[in-house]
Amino acid sequence: MAQSPKDLRIAILGAGMGGLTCALSLATEGFKNIDVYEYATDLGFVGAGIQLAPNMARVLDRLGVWKGIEAEAVNIEDTSVRVGATDTELAYVQLKYIQETYGYPHMVGHRSSLANGLYQGCLAHPAIKFHFSTSADAVDRYGPQPSFMAIPRQGEPYRVEADVVLAADGIKSKTRDEMLKRLNINAGIKDTHQAAYRIMIHKEQIKDDPELLALMESTRVTRWIGEKRHIIAYPVSNNTIYNLSTTQPDTNFAAATNATYTTRGDKSAMLNVFGDFCPMVQRMLNYVPEGEVCEWKLRVHEPLPTWVHESVALVGDACHPTLPHLAQGAAQAIEDGDVLGVVLSRLPDTKPESINKALRVYEKVRKDRAYALVDLAAASGRALHLGDGAAKEERDRQFAALKRGDGPVPDKWADADVQREIYGFDCSKVAHESFDEYFNAL
Ligand SMILES: Cc1cc2nc3c(=O)[nH]c(=O)nc-3n(C[C@H](O)[C@H](O)[C@H](O)COP(=O)(O)OP(=O)(O)OC[C@H]3O[C@@H](n4cnc5c(N)ncnc54)[C@H](O)[C@@H]3O)c2cc1C
Repeated sequence: MAQSPKDLRIAILGAGMGGLTCALSLATEGFKNIDVYEYATDLGFVGAGIQLAPNMARVLDRLGVWKGIEAEAVNIEDTSVRVGATDTELAYVQLKYIQETYGYPHMVGHRSSLANGLYQGCLAHPAIKFHFSTSADAVDRYGPQPSFMAIPRQGEPYRVEADVVLAADGIKSKTRDEMLKRLNINAGIKDTHQAAYRIMIHKEQIKDDPELLALMESTRVTRWIGEKRHIIAYPVSNNTIYNLSTTQPDTNFAAATNATYTTRGDKSAMLNVFGDFCPMVQRMLNYVPEGEVCEWKLRVHEPLPTWVHESVALVGDACHPTLPHLAQGAAQAIEDGDVLGVVLSRLPDTKPESINKALRVYEKVRKDRAYALVDLAAASGRALHLGDGAAKEERDRQFAALKRGDGPVPDKWADADVQREIYGFDCSKVAHESFDEYFNAL
């Protein structure tokens, strides 16, 4: 048995945003034996943008990796919500106040920049060892030394035993399924009936298109909305790439026989989905080279009654996958990783009962917040996607009121009260402040 908490053997399954943050946060706290098992051969990233909200930036800064990520990101100063069909503005919201209020600006960046920043941060800690090309099977032994089979792409499978296992293996988490089975909990994946295209347009492609060039060089997040669909777009990588993420009814995956989550999308199908959007949007979509359309199925999970079993905890999308409409999925996985570093650093000893209690403090600090944001993202999507009727009239009345300077923003991502709830939360501070009370009450 480990003599001191910092000697505990910690196995992390998955090197996504959640797994990388767990590793970095634990190493920063002084843990000495951290092993990360990642199925992929390296961190070869899906080309896509990602929002770097202040609550995420706060964690990244505390872990010493924000400066590098920030240097490649774009500082967002305002947002415009527009009617997809006509490009008429429904709402304009200034976001400059965010930096002053929350200590960090609202930035947007390239996914690879975020993941690579976290990864480089991890490489600076010899305590963290990466095992790429290695699939972690579900944790199949619980008790004081949880264990699972590691299956390298080349070579023989081997058994890994640890003192703590953090399963950050994404929405398809095998450990979540196994844990729920053992706990006799029936909570499945929920189909959202929505899918997303992820698109990146490079500056040289639009150099002769002044309208799109202006968007590329702006510091604005633009959302074009229509019935059951919308597009959110912003510049990334120092304004050299314009990133678009769409949401539309899932027709392609719904028809598929297997459970694919990402697939090459069909360009003509994409153009068809947004066929009644304005000419500028059409032009933007047309810049996507044939064969480079990527479509993701958007899935969520029924809320889980617990994220922890003995010395094993679920992290990120493994326990709280969300629709992207608040742009908080990765941010919440990063908050999870940060809080896990805090609670495990506060362990009084290495007893399995104490480890379990510390993990349950993590769950207590994180679960209600993460699920509240999952619900809010779904609600915001419903408001954005309304078709003709009374609800849409009420939504558009709110947009109109906003133009006169008052009321809530139906696009919850841009609403100041929602931003206060999301960006004003310092997860590490909350974990430290509540640790003793929660730990002692368990
Ligand atoms: C269209 C869209 C737009 C989004 N935009 C934003 C945004 O702007 N801002 C934001 O904060 N979030 C955004 N998100 C959400 C965000 O991408 C996810 O919530 C986040 O990536 C979850 O991180 P994770 O580490 O939990 O899981 P993942 O990123 O899924 O990482 C899981 C990792 O585990 C590995 N893995 C899986 N199974 C195994 C196994 N058995 N063994 C070993 N390794 C395994 C995978 O290869 C992967 O590397 C968006 C999501 C979508 C779909």
